Amino acid sequence: MTSSTQVLDALVIGAGPAGIGTALALAAVKGLTFGVLERGQVGQTFLDWPENQRFLTPSFTGNGFGATDLNSVHPATSPAFSLGTDYLTGEQYARYLRSVVSHFQVPVMDDAEVTAVTTHEAGFEVFSDRGPVVSRSLVWAGGEFHHPLAPRLAGSGFSDHSSTKASWERRTGELVVIGGYESGIDIACHHVSTGVIVTVVDAEHPWGAGSGSDPSFRLAPRSRIRLNAALETGRLTLMAARAVGIQALGNGAVIRLSDGSALTSRSRPIAAVGFGPGLGPVDHLFTARPDGWPLLDTDDQSTTTPGLFLSGPAIRHGGVKFCFVYKFRQRFAHIARVIGDRAGKDTTQLEAWREAGMLTEDLSCCGVECAC
Ligand SMILES: Cc1cc2nc3c(=O)[nH]c(=O)nc-3n(C[C@H](O)[C@H](O)[C@H](O)COP(=O)(O)OP(=O)(O)OC[C@H]3O[C@@H](n4cnc5c(N)ncnc54)[C@H](O)[C@@H]3O)c2cc1C
Repeated sequence: MTSSTQVLDALVIGAGPAGIGTALALAAVKGLTFGVLERGQVGQTFLDWPENQRFLTPSFTGNGFGATDLNSVHPATSPAFSLGTDYLTGEQYARYLRSVVSHFQVPVMDDAEVTAVTTHEAGFEVFSDRGPVVSRSLVWAGGEFHHPLAPRLAGSGFSDHSSTKASWERRTGELVVIGGYESGIDIACHHVSTGVIVTVVDAEHPWGAGSGSDPSFRLAPRSRIRLNAALETGRLTLMAARAVGIQALGNGAVIRLSDGSALTSRSRPIAAVGFGPGLGPVDHLFTARPDGWPLLDTDDQSTTTPGLFLSGPAIRHGGVKFCFVYKFRQRFAHIARVIGDRAGKDTTQLEAWREAGMLTEDLSCCGVECAC
């Protein structure tokens, strides 16, 4: 990809959907020099998913009709088309990403964990296992999976996070899941299907219908179908309550609730409380919003470090979350355009992203509700 003396126009850190998608948009800007550094392999996070986990956004090849496959990272690709399947496993989505990288010859350097980033007179100096790289612009696309959140309560260390393989292992008897949005319902349904008696605890009861149509705040149809099936078994209880503490008890734990009552879990309770922004080696180059997520300007750029962009599910603008692929991909071409314009390059090829419905530049338009 580069030698340490060359100065790239752009460097992307992370080869998940955000990193590969951004790199593909950068590749459409003729003459731009860029590369991707990945600490593992392309799609590493998906390779690390517990094997029972699957996508909840459907894949369908609607590309020719202006409805680009929801999980695509490039307008001319579709995981449904290349894999011939839907509701992909992590391994399948990693295969799709690898095929895209190979087809478009995206310059990715594997096994290159970025450990430090400093500002440099030319832009940024990025240090990885493969030596330093200097780049004028930098795109952090390291994802959130490596930053699982612990529940904010005493004894949280006695729980397993829902993203760990341990949380998907066979359980028996009663099990408590803390957190009732997508990942909590997903893992609860999994354990109910194996005969376990599961109680999901969440004071916000996100399994309710909710008032908006945004899937970042409302269960996906596939999750709701699975939830209804799990409820019909009689082995699933949804409890609108706040867990305030966990105490170990044999191989399991007692989970104390804010109303003074308690639940017993025969094995370690599962914390399905999501992920943090996971900014790793660029954390110090962003400032945080009051809710802890990175503060960005309207170009998804750090407000304190010009030239440093964020791509991926940690993007927040006001109350809008970009946590699904079909949401955060709307910004790949925008970031590439800003970088291309600064480098004095022709960015007209990026119009293909707009034509495919993969470019949102007016951030005020994202809050649209469905009428029915
Ligand atoms: C169980 C589950 C189901 C999901 N289902 C869906 C769904 O149906 N639809 C959907 O749209 N989204 C879904 N998501 C969310 C989706 O997986 C994430 O939003 C997506 O993976 C984020 O992409 P990313 O490229 O930002 O991060 P990642 O996919 O995590 O990629 C980040 C990459 O950066 C690399 N990296 C990290 N740090 C460094 C470093 N220091 N140096 C070099 N490389 C580094 C990692 O190895 C990784 O390959 C799901 C998530 C989970 C956990």
